[in-house]
Amino acid sequence: MGGPELEQLIGLFSRLPGLGPRSARRIVLKLLRDKEGGLARLADAMQAAAAAVRSCTVCGNLDSSDPCAICAEPLREARICVVEGVADLWALERAHVYRGRYHILGSTLSALAGRGPEDLAIAPLLARLEAAPVEEIILALPATVEGAATAHYLTERLKRFGIPLSRLAQGVPIGGALEVLDEGTLATALRARGAAN
Ligand code: ZN
Repeated sequence: MGGPELEQLIGLFSRLPGLGPRSARRIVLKLLRDKEGGLARLADAMQAAAAAVRSCTVCGNLDSSDPCAICAEPLREARICVVEGVADLWALERAHVYRGRYHILGSTLSALAGRGPEDLAIAPLLARLEAAPVEEIILALPATVEGAATAHYLTERLKRFGIPLSRLAQGVPIGGALEVLDEGTLATALRARGAAN
């Protein structure tokens, strides 16, 4: 149906997060039928992004400038929030609650998957701290075994800088019903409870 070009396009779309073959076909059909040349415009935008976007050599963010727009902002607070991936950085930026800087590790430590410290951007983080001290480091890592192992390892490696280290509190998501939480989240939320005013 539709020839090898369309088959390939649908195949590529269906590999994207949240999409399957059904939604991929719907998207491709919609783009093909678009009167403003949706498919050609998407192809242009993708080509432009592929040519322009690179990893920031300071923090690891993806941007068309290096250093990225966040690293280039002079008024950011002298704090570094350490995250696993670019999506985490973008989520924190969307929340508009943090005005410091970031560092992307690229992954988490995992003995099972054979990922050691050298597979993560830890050396560049240490180099950043040596070059310019900060007031605080926030470890915003996933609430998983790997995230906890990574936080533990970083805590040890960062000790010598004497910088206050903090972690994200974990607990009940806003709007979340207690009954749908897994036991780990619920137990952590209870342990990290604060005073009710
Ligand atoms: Zn950056």
